[in-house]
Amino acid sequence: MGNVLTIGEIKAGALRKSSLEAASLGFTMAKALGGEAHGVVIGDQASSLAAQYKDSGVTKVFAAEGDAVKTYAPNAYAAVIAGIVKKGGYDTVIFPTSTFTRDLAAKVGAELKVMPVMDAVEAKADGGAVIVKRPAYAGKVMMALKLTGKPSVFGIRPNVFPVNANGTTVAVEKIAAADAGDKAKVTAQKMEARDEIPLTEANIIVSGGRTAEGKAIFDKIRPVAKIMNAAVGASRACVDAHMIEHSHQVGQTGTTVSPNLYIACAISGSIQHRAGMSSSKVIVAVNKDPEAPIFSVATYGVVADVYQFLPALEAELKKVMG
Ligand SMILES: Cc1cc2nc3c(=O)[nH]c(=O)nc-3n(C[C@H](O)[C@H](O)[C@H](O)COP(=O)(O)OP(=O)(O)OC[C@H]3O[C@@H](n4cnc5c(N)ncnc54)[C@H](O)[C@@H]3O)c2cc1C
Repeated sequence: MGNVLTIGEIKAGALRKSSLEAASLGFTMAKALGGEAHGVVIGDQASSLAAQYKDSGVTKVFAAEGDAVKTYAPNAYAAVIAGIVKKGGYDTVIFPTSTFTRDLAAKVGAELKVMPVMDAVEAKADGGAVIVKRPAYAGKVMMALKLTGKPSVFGIRPNVFPVNANGTTVAVEKIAAADAGDKAKVTAQKMEARDEIPLTEANIIVSGGRTAEGKAIFDKIRPVAKIMNAAVGASRACVDAHMIEHSHQVGQTGTTVSPNLYIACAISGSIQHRAGMSSSKVIVAVNKDPEAPIFSVATYGVVADVYQFLPALEAELKKVMG
Protein backbone atom coordinates (compact mmCIF):
# COMPACT_ATOMS: atom_id res chain seq x y z
CA MET A 1 0.00 0.00 0.00
CA GLY A 2 1.03 3.57 -0.45
CA ASN A 3 3.18 3.02 -3.54
CA VAL A 4 3.80 6.02 -5.77
CA LEU A 5 4.49 5.96 -9.52
CA THR A 6 6.27 8.99 -10.98
CA ILE A 7 6.24 9.68 -14.70
CA GLY A 8 9.33 10.71 -16.66
CA GLU A 9 9.29 13.01 -19.68
CA ILE A 10 11.78 12.79 -22.53
CA LYS A 11 12.38 15.92 -24.58
CA ALA A 12 14.88 16.16 -27.43
CA GLY A 13 16.45 12.86 -26.38
CA ALA A 14 17.01 13.92 -22.76
CA LEU A 15 15.14 13.30 -19.52
CA ARG A 16 13.60 16.58 -18.35
CA LYS A 17 14.69 17.78 -14.91
CA SER A 18 11.05 18.00 -13.85
CA SER A 19 10.93 14.17 -14.06
CA LEU A 20 13.43 14.05 -11.18
CA GLU A 21 11.44 16.67 -9.27
CA ALA A 22 8.43 14.33 -9.53
CA ALA A 23 10.63 11.41 -8.40
CA SER A 24 11.91 13.30 -5.34
CA LEU A 25 8.38 14.29 -4.36
CA GLY A 26 7.30 10.68 -4.96
CA PHE A 27 9.94 9.50 -2.50
CA THR A 28 8.73 11.92 0.20
CA MET A 29 5.08 11.00 -0.35
CA ALA A 30 5.73 7.25 -0.47
CA LYS A 31 7.49 7.52 2.89
CA ALA A 32 4.47 9.34 4.35
CA LEU A 33 2.04 6.83 2.82
CA GLY A 34 4.07 3.80 3.89
CA GLY A 35 5.11 2.60 0.42
CA GLU A 36 7.84 2.85 -2.23
CA ALA A 37 8.34 5.23 -5.14
CA HIS A 38 8.96 3.96 -8.66
CA GLY A 39 9.37 5.66 -12.03
CA VAL A 40 8.38 5.06 -15.64
CA VAL A 41 10.05 6.35 -18.78
CA ILE A 42 8.51 5.78 -22.21
CA GLY A 43 10.08 6.45 -25.58
CA ASP A 44 13.29 6.17 -27.53
CA GLN A 45 16.34 5.38 -25.34
CA ALA A 46 14.06 5.02 -22.28
CA SER A 47 16.15 2.32 -20.62
CA SER A 48 19.45 4.23 -20.86
CA LEU A 49 17.80 7.48 -19.67
CA ALA A 50 16.27 5.60 -16.71
CA ALA A 51 19.75 5.34 -15.12
CA GLN A 52 19.52 9.08 -14.38
CA TYR A 53 17.03 8.28 -11.60
CA LYS A 54 19.91 7.18 -9.35
CA ASP A 55 19.75 9.08 -6.06
CA SER A 56 16.32 10.57 -6.88
CA GLY A 57 14.38 8.43 -4.42
CA VAL A 58 12.80 5.94 -6.82
CA THR A 59 14.17 2.41 -6.49
CA LYS A 60 12.77 0.94 -9.69
CA VAL A 61 12.16 2.47 -13.12
CA PHE A 62 10.04 0.80 -15.77
CA ALA A 63 11.39 1.54 -19.24
CA ALA A 64 9.18 1.07 -22.30
CA GLU A 65 10.72 1.48 -25.72
CA GLY A 66 10.22 0.09 -29.22
CA ASP A 67 8.33 0.97 -32.37
CA ALA A 68 4.92 1.44 -30.69
CA VAL A 69 6.20 4.22 -28.41
CA LYS A 70 9.24 5.56 -30.30
CA THR A 71 7.38 8.86 -30.67
CA TYR A 72 4.31 10.05 -28.72
CA ALA A 73 1.22 7.94 -29.34
CA PRO A 74 -1.37 8.91 -26.68
CA ASN A 75 -3.23 5.60 -26.37
CA ALA A 76 -0.08 3.47 -26.41
CA TYR A 77 1.65 5.66 -23.78
CA ALA A 78 -1.45 5.77 -21.57
CA ALA A 79 -1.89 1.99 -21.83
CA VAL A 80 1.69 1.47 -20.57
CA ILE A 81 1.15 3.71 -17.53
CA ALA A 82 -2.36 2.43 -16.72
CA GLY A 83 -1.08 -1.15 -17.05
CA ILE A 84 1.74 -0.54 -14.54
CA VAL A 85 -0.64 1.23 -12.12
CA LYS A 86 -3.21 -1.57 -12.20
CA LYS A 87 -0.65 -4.39 -11.92
CA GLY A 88 1.44 -2.71 -9.22
CA GLY A 89 -1.47 -1.37 -7.17
CA TYR A 90 -0.14 2.19 -7.09
CA ASP A 91 -2.10 4.65 -4.94
CA THR A 92 -0.56 7.82 -6.34
CA VAL A 93 0.68 8.84 -9.80
CA ILE A 94 2.77 12.01 -10.21
CA PHE A 95 3.43 13.68 -13.57
CA PRO A 96 5.67 16.67 -14.28
CA THR A 97 3.30 19.24 -15.85
CA SER A 98 3.92 20.23 -19.48
CA THR A 99 1.88 20.53 -22.67
CA PHE A 100 2.76 16.92 -23.43
CA THR A 101 1.84 15.51 -20.00
CA ARG A 102 -1.42 17.48 -19.85
CA ASP A 103 -2.49 15.41 -22.86
CA LEU A 104 -1.09 12.15 -21.52
CA ALA A 105 -2.44 12.54 -17.97
CA ALA A 106 -5.95 13.11 -19.34
CA LYS A 107 -5.71 9.80 -21.22
CA VAL A 108 -4.33 7.99 -18.18
CA GLY A 109 -7.09 9.49 -16.03
CA ALA A 110 -9.71 8.21 -18.48
CA GLU A 111 -8.16 4.71 -18.40
CA LEU A 112 -8.10 4.68 -14.59
CA LYS A 113 -11.46 6.50 -14.22
CA VAL A 114 -10.06 9.32 -12.11
CA MET A 115 -9.69 13.06 -12.66
CA PRO A 116 -6.06 14.22 -12.90
CA VAL A 117 -5.18 17.62 -11.40
CA MET A 118 -2.25 19.35 -13.09
CA ASP A 119 0.07 22.25 -12.22
CA ALA A 120 0.23 21.60 -8.47
CA VAL A 121 2.56 23.89 -6.53
CA GLU A 122 2.09 22.05 -3.22
CA ALA A 123 1.36 18.39 -2.49
CA LYS A 124 1.24 16.37 0.67
CA ALA A 125 0.00 13.05 1.97
CA ASP A 126 -2.73 13.51 4.56
CA GLY A 127 -3.90 10.43 6.44
CA GLY A 128 -3.85 8.15 3.38
CA ALA A 129 -5.24 10.83 1.02
CA VAL A 130 -3.37 13.38 -1.07
CA ILE A 131 -3.95 17.14 -0.87
CA VAL A 132 -2.64 19.36 -3.65
CA LYS A 133 -2.73 23.11 -4.14
CA ARG A 134 -2.87 24.69 -7.57
CA PRO A 135 -3.58 28.17 -8.91
CA ALA A 136 -6.93 28.75 -10.64
CA TYR A 137 -8.64 31.61 -12.51
CA ALA A 138 -5.31 32.76 -13.99
CA GLY A 139 -3.65 32.77 -10.58
CA LYS A 140 -6.35 34.85 -8.83
CA VAL A 141 -7.06 32.10 -6.32
CA MET A 142 -5.22 29.09 -4.93
CA MET A 143 -7.32 25.91 -4.75
CA ALA A 144 -6.66 23.16 -2.21
CA LEU A 145 -7.98 19.84 -3.52
CA LYS A 146 -8.30 16.58 -1.65
CA LEU A 147 -7.90 13.79 -4.19
CA THR A 148 -10.39 11.14 -3.20
CA GLY A 149 -10.25 8.95 -6.34
CA LYS A 150 -7.92 5.96 -6.34
CA PRO A 151 -5.27 6.30 -7.54
CA SER A 152 -4.62 10.02 -6.94
CA VAL A 153 -3.27 11.39 -10.23
CA PHE A 154 -1.70 14.84 -10.35
CA GLY A 155 0.99 16.87 -12.09
CA ILE A 156 3.49 19.23 -10.49
CA ARG A 157 4.60 22.60 -11.86
CA PRO A 158 8.26 22.41 -13.01
CA ASN A 159 10.91 24.15 -10.87
CA VAL A 160 8.70 24.34 -7.76
CA PHE A 161 9.65 21.08 -6.02
CA PRO A 162 13.33 20.37 -5.26
CA VAL A 163 15.42 17.49 -6.57
CA ASN A 164 16.86 15.92 -3.41
CA ALA A 165 19.77 13.50 -3.18
CA ASN A 166 18.01 10.58 -1.51
CA GLY A 167 20.87 8.07 -1.75
CA THR A 168 18.86 5.44 -3.64
CA THR A 169 20.03 3.04 -6.30
CA VAL A 170 17.76 2.22 -9.19
CA ALA A 171 16.83 -1.06 -10.90
CA VAL A 172 15.67 -0.66 -14.50
CA GLU A 173 12.93 -3.04 -15.67
CA LYS A 174 12.27 -3.13 -19.41
CA ILE A 175 8.61 -3.57 -20.26
CA ALA A 176 6.79 -4.17 -23.52
CA ALA A 177 4.68 -1.49 -25.18
CA ALA A 178 2.04 -2.52 -27.70
CA ASP A 179 0.55 -0.58 -30.57
CA ALA A 180 -2.82 0.74 -29.32
CA GLY A 181 -4.19 1.69 -32.74
CA ASP A 182 -3.67 5.43 -32.22
CA LYS A 183 -5.45 7.38 -34.96
CA ALA A 184 -3.20 10.38 -34.30
CA LYS A 185 0.41 10.13 -33.28
CA VAL A 186 3.57 12.18 -33.49
CA THR A 187 5.55 11.04 -36.51
CA ALA A 188 8.56 13.34 -36.19
CA GLN A 189 9.78 16.14 -33.95
CA LYS A 190 11.90 19.02 -35.21
CA MET A 191 13.69 20.96 -32.52
CA GLU A 192 14.67 24.55 -33.28
CA ALA A 193 18.43 24.93 -32.86
CA ARG A 194 19.13 27.76 -30.41
CA ASP A 195 21.76 28.55 -27.87
CA GLU A 196 19.31 30.15 -25.43
CA ILE A 197 18.15 28.58 -22.17
CA PRO A 198 14.50 27.45 -22.38
CA LEU A 199 12.15 29.27 -19.99
CA THR A 200 11.02 26.17 -18.10
CA GLU A 201 14.57 25.02 -17.29
CA ALA A 202 15.92 28.41 -16.17
CA ASN A 203 16.86 29.37 -12.61
CA ILE A 204 16.83 33.03 -13.60
CA ILE A 205 14.61 34.78 -16.16
CA VAL A 206 14.94 38.37 -17.34
CA SER A 207 11.75 39.45 -19.13
CA GLY A 208 10.95 42.46 -21.23
CA GLY A 209 7.72 44.34 -21.89
CA ARG A 210 6.33 47.06 -24.14
CA THR A 211 8.21 50.35 -24.28
CA ALA A 212 8.24 53.14 -26.86
CA GLU A 213 11.61 51.82 -28.09
CA GLY A 214 10.07 48.53 -29.32
CA LYS A 215 12.35 45.53 -29.58
CA ALA A 216 15.42 47.51 -28.43
CA ILE A 217 14.56 46.34 -24.91
CA PHE A 218 15.74 42.84 -25.81
CA ASP A 219 19.10 44.21 -27.03
CA LYS A 220 19.54 45.49 -23.45
CA ILE A 221 18.16 42.34 -21.79
CA ARG A 222 20.18 39.72 -23.73
CA PRO A 223 23.68 40.75 -22.50
CA VAL A 224 22.40 40.84 -18.91
CA ALA A 225 20.76 37.43 -19.32
CA LYS A 226 23.98 36.03 -20.79
CA ILE A 227 26.09 37.10 -17.83
CA MET A 228 23.50 35.78 -15.36
CA ASN A 229 23.04 32.52 -17.28
CA ALA A 230 19.37 33.44 -17.50
CA ALA A 231 16.58 32.81 -19.98
CA VAL A 232 14.92 35.70 -21.82
CA GLY A 233 11.18 36.13 -21.24
CA ALA A 234 8.64 38.53 -22.70
CA SER A 235 5.12 39.82 -22.28
CA ARG A 236 2.50 39.00 -24.86
CA ALA A 237 2.46 42.62 -26.00
CA CYS A 238 6.02 42.11 -27.31
CA VAL A 239 5.19 38.76 -28.91
CA ASP A 240 2.07 40.15 -30.62
CA ALA A 241 4.17 43.02 -31.98
CA HIS A 242 6.67 40.49 -33.43
CA MET A 243 9.55 41.77 -31.28
CA ILE A 244 10.34 38.23 -30.10
CA GLU A 245 9.08 34.67 -30.71
CA HIS A 246 6.17 33.15 -28.80
CA SER A 247 8.48 30.58 -27.13
CA HIS A 248 9.65 33.50 -24.92
CA GLN A 249 6.15 34.51 -23.80
CA VAL A 250 5.41 34.17 -20.10
CA GLY A 251 1.81 34.03 -18.94
CA GLN A 252 -1.60 32.53 -19.31
CA THR A 253 -1.26 31.94 -23.05
CA GLY A 254 2.51 31.50 -22.91
CA THR A 255 4.73 29.50 -20.57
CA THR A 256 4.26 29.13 -16.82
CA VAL A 257 7.56 29.56 -15.01
CA SER A 258 8.84 29.29 -11.41
CA PRO A 259 12.49 30.36 -11.48
CA ASN A 260 14.47 31.32 -8.38
CA LEU A 261 14.71 34.87 -9.73
CA TYR A 262 12.35 36.64 -12.17
CA ILE A 263 13.31 40.14 -13.30
CA ALA A 264 10.37 41.91 -14.99
CA CYS A 265 11.55 44.92 -17.00
CA ALA A 266 8.85 47.34 -18.24
CA ILE A 267 6.08 44.82 -17.68
CA SER A 268 2.87 46.31 -16.30
CA GLY A 269 1.83 43.11 -14.52
CA SER A 270 -1.50 42.21 -16.12
CA ILE A 271 -3.36 39.31 -14.52
CA GLN A 272 -2.55 37.20 -17.60
CA HIS A 273 1.20 37.84 -17.24
CA ARG A 274 1.17 37.27 -13.47
CA ALA A 275 -0.59 33.93 -14.01
CA GLY A 276 2.60 32.66 -15.58
CA MET A 277 5.22 33.98 -13.16
CA SER A 278 3.78 34.76 -9.73
CA SER A 279 5.11 31.47 -8.25
CA SER A 280 8.72 32.63 -8.92
CA LYS A 281 10.71 32.57 -5.68
CA VAL A 282 12.08 36.15 -5.91
CA ILE A 283 10.54 38.75 -8.22
CA VAL A 284 12.27 42.01 -9.11
CA ALA A 285 10.11 44.53 -10.98
CA VAL A 286 11.62 47.46 -12.85
CA ASN A 287 9.10 50.01 -14.08
CA LYS A 288 9.03 53.78 -14.46
CA ASP A 289 5.43 53.89 -13.19
CA PRO A 290 5.39 53.49 -9.40
CA GLU A 291 1.70 52.48 -9.59
CA ALA A 292 2.30 49.56 -12.01
CA PRO A 293 0.43 46.43 -10.79
CA ILE A 294 3.58 44.29 -11.14
CA PHE A 295 4.84 45.88 -7.91
CA SER A 296 2.05 44.11 -5.98
CA VAL A 297 3.72 40.72 -6.60
CA ALA A 298 7.33 41.94 -6.50
CA THR A 299 9.78 41.05 -3.74
CA TYR A 300 11.88 44.07 -4.75
CA GLY A 301 10.71 47.02 -6.82
CA VAL A 302 12.85 49.45 -8.78
CA VAL A 303 11.20 52.62 -10.11
CA ALA A 304 13.44 53.43 -13.06
CA ASP A 305 13.71 53.66 -16.83
CA VAL A 306 14.82 50.22 -18.06
CA TYR A 307 17.14 51.85 -20.63
CA GLN A 308 19.11 53.31 -17.74
CA PHE A 309 18.66 50.39 -15.36
CA LEU A 310 19.70 47.52 -17.67
CA PRO A 311 23.06 48.99 -18.88
CA ALA A 312 23.86 49.92 -15.25
CA LEU A 313 23.04 46.38 -14.12
CA GLU A 314 25.16 44.93 -16.94
CA ALA A 315 28.14 47.10 -15.94
CA GLU A 316 27.80 46.06 -12.26
CA LEU A 317 27.48 42.38 -13.17
CA LYS A 318 30.61 42.60 -15.33
CA LYS A 319 32.50 44.08 -12.39
CA VAL A 320 31.31 41.39 -9.99
CA MET A 321 31.25 38.36 -12.31
CA GLY A 322 33.92 39.28 -14.82
C1 LIG B 1 -6.92 35.95 -23.10
C2 LIG B 1 -5.67 36.76 -22.89
C3 LIG B 1 -4.48 36.07 -22.67
C4 LIG B 1 -3.30 36.79 -22.43
N1 LIG B 1 -2.13 36.10 -22.19
C5 LIG B 1 -1.03 36.79 -21.87
C6 LIG B 1 0.18 36.11 -21.56
O1 LIG B 1 0.29 34.88 -21.60
N2 LIG B 1 1.26 36.87 -21.21
C7 LIG B 1 1.23 38.24 -21.15
O2 LIG B 1 2.26 38.86 -20.85
N3 LIG B 1 0.10 38.90 -21.49
C8 LIG B 1 -1.02 38.21 -21.85
N4 LIG B 1 -2.13 38.90 -22.22
C9 LIG B 1 -2.03 40.36 -22.44
C10 LIG B 1 -2.11 41.19 -21.17
O3 LIG B 1 -3.46 41.47 -20.84
C11 LIG B 1 -1.34 42.52 -21.34
O4 LIG B 1 -1.88 43.22 -22.42
C12 LIG B 1 0.16 42.36 -21.54
O5 LIG B 1 0.70 41.52 -20.57
C13 LIG B 1 0.82 43.74 -21.46
O6 LIG B 1 2.18 43.63 -21.73
P1 LIG B 1 3.21 44.71 -21.15
O7 LIG B 1 3.15 44.69 -19.67
O8 LIG B 1 4.51 44.46 -21.81
O9 LIG B 1 2.66 46.05 -21.77
P2 LIG B 1 1.92 47.30 -21.11
O10 LIG B 1 0.70 46.88 -20.40
O11 LIG B 1 1.80 48.31 -22.19
O12 LIG B 1 2.93 47.79 -20.00
C14 LIG B 1 4.19 48.33 -20.26
C15 LIG B 1 4.78 48.74 -18.93
O13 LIG B 1 6.11 49.16 -19.12
C16 LIG B 1 6.33 50.36 -18.42
N5 LIG B 1 7.35 51.09 -19.18
C17 LIG B 1 7.25 51.57 -20.44
N6 LIG B 1 8.42 52.09 -20.84
C18 LIG B 1 9.30 51.94 -19.81
C19 LIG B 1 10.67 52.23 -19.61
N7 LIG B 1 11.39 52.83 -20.57
N8 LIG B 1 11.22 51.94 -18.43
C20 LIG B 1 10.51 51.34 -17.44
N9 LIG B 1 9.22 51.02 -17.56
C21 LIG B 1 8.62 51.31 -18.74
C22 LIG B 1 5.01 51.06 -18.33
O14 LIG B 1 4.95 51.90 -17.20
C23 LIG B 1 4.05 49.88 -18.22
O15 LIG B 1 3.81 49.51 -16.88
C24 LIG B 1 -3.33 38.20 -22.45
C25 LIG B 1 -4.52 38.87 -22.67
C26 LIG B 1 -5.68 38.16 -22.88
C27 LIG B 1 -6.97 38.91 -23.11
